[in-house]
Amino acid sequence: MSTPLPHPLLEELRQICGAANVLTHEDPATDLSPWEQDWRKRVSGRALAVVRPSDTAQVAAVVKACAAHQTPIVPQGGNTGLVVGGIPDNSGQQIVLSLTRMNAVRAIDPANLTITVEAGCVLQNLQTAAEQAGFLFPLSLGAEGSCTIGGNLGTNAGGTQVVRYGNTRELCLGLEVVTAQGEIWHGLTGLRKDNTGYDLRNLMIGSEGTLGIITAATMKLYPQPAAQLTAWAAVPSMEAAVQLLGLAHQRLGPGLTGFEVMGQFALSLVDKHYPHLRVPLWQETPWCVLLENSDSESEQHARTQFEALLETAMEQGWVSDAVVAENLTQAKGLWHIRESITLAQVQEGQNIKHDISIPVSRIPAFVAETDALLEREVPGVRLVDFGHLGDGNLHYNVQAPEASDSKAFVIAFEDKINTLVFDQVKRFGGSISAEHGVGAQKVNKLPLYKDPTALAMMRSVKQALDPQNILNPGRVLS
Ligand SMILES: Cc1cc2nc3c(=O)[nH]c(=O)nc-3n(C[C@H](O)[C@H](O)[C@H](O)COP(=O)(O)OP(=O)(O)OC[C@H]3O[C@@H](n4cnc5c(N)ncnc54)[C@H](O)[C@@H]3O)c2cc1C
Repeated sequence: MSTPLPHPLLEELRQICGAANVLTHEDPATDLSPWEQDWRKRVSGRALAVVRPSDTAQVAAVVKACAAHQTPIVPQGGNTGLVVGGIPDNSGQQIVLSLTRMNAVRAIDPANLTITVEAGCVLQNLQTAAEQAGFLFPLSLGAEGSCTIGGNLGTNAGGTQVVRYGNTRELCLGLEVVTAQGEIWHGLTGLRKDNTGYDLRNLMIGSEGTLGIITAATMKLYPQPAAQLTAWAAVPSMEAAVQLLGLAHQRLGPGLTGFEVMGQFALSLVDKHYPHLRVPLWQETPWCVLLENSDSESEQHARTQFEALLETAMEQGWVSDAVVAENLTQAKGLWHIRESITLAQVQEGQNIKHDISIPVSRIPAFVAETDALLEREVPGVRLVDFGHLGDGNLHYNVQAPEASDSKAFVIAFEDKINTLVFDQVKRFGGSISAEHGVGAQKVNKLPLYKDPTALAMMRSVKQALDPQNILNPGRVLS
């Protein structure tokens, strides 16, 4: 049996990162599936190698080597992305560049209210580091125990606190980036004002690894609130939920840090698959809302504000019943229910996901019309509606009819249902991707729903920054 010839690029990569940090299929005992398979386990690729640099200089050297060999690079963090953006294609020719070894907290500047971390830092660890320094880092999402700040920036992740603090973009003050040519951009300024030309930071954020590789970031910190209260309210309709949101903005002001809506079927799945979580009020109402009030004064102040808000909402008929968490453990329990919807859907079988945004005022009409259209076109479908209503962002997911084969359902109906939903999104002035990104999953849909001039400018930017098309090719732009 002949020994395979040494692969020149792999040899170089081993020189740069050390042999132990260049994983390949050459060794049959090495399992690359954690890097090659997407989180939903619906798509798998095959990498030439998984490369795990330990610092920015190594990332730059890896990119230079790959550029010289014209080998594409797929940056990857926690691999929790939901649009097939961080795994390799099937060619066996792409390098997965995993940033997870670069996970240090480099600095905290309390006076500037900033924290500087490496891209592979897991979001939860960043939150903890901020907390230990006496601050709040407000980005929060269901995957926070595994996703990384590099991935959060790559996708401009949203999560549950956007209504108050904005998306990841609004939380970032500076970046360190390795370009497609392997140069390092030292942009960790921590400045809140800098009008010296084009905003390269914002260009990189949300570019899903197609314009540069983020190696570190300076993120904003906030004072910790004196109290954080959570309420769970039963609401009779989506119109009522939108009215309640308006009232909450008015009464709580910047204290309103979360406003999530959950449809009855979505909650029934949590009740079915995780009965120990004890979902409140779901059986008596079509929608439930989870509200969070973060108060800078005291718990008593927050509670009084919350109770007055809910009382007015009940008088108006916008809330039929509500519970306010008594303590942090109860509050965490309520948030855990909300965050378990995604996992409960997985337990129920395959489904067709849509992460969409619509102007808040138009959401009730969108839901009513689109629900009816879907029920007419695909009788028996079950709609898993939930999401960040405070940001106009719905996870409008479609589950197979009861007791049917969910895999066969997805194969048969995915295209038809996507077209129906996305056409409705366009009609209502929305976006076909609110927070998960485009990845490979929606790359063919983008030209149908994005403004053509915007798309042309995006192509020009890509061509200018990555003329060889080696950074995450086939993602965002085809
Ligand atoms: C249970 C669950 C709940 C979720 N909830 C939310 C939610 O509420 N809001 C939300 O927005 N998302 C949510 N997501 C999606 C996902 O967690 C986010 O998109 C997250 O930001 C991805 O981070 P990651 O480190 O896992 O990135 P990965 O999945 O590894 O990568 C995602 C994309 O970013 C690119 N990328 C990764 N690292 C870098 C880097 N250093 N430089 C440049 N590009 C990079 C990749 O190439 C890929 O295109 C959820 C996912 C799950 C599984």
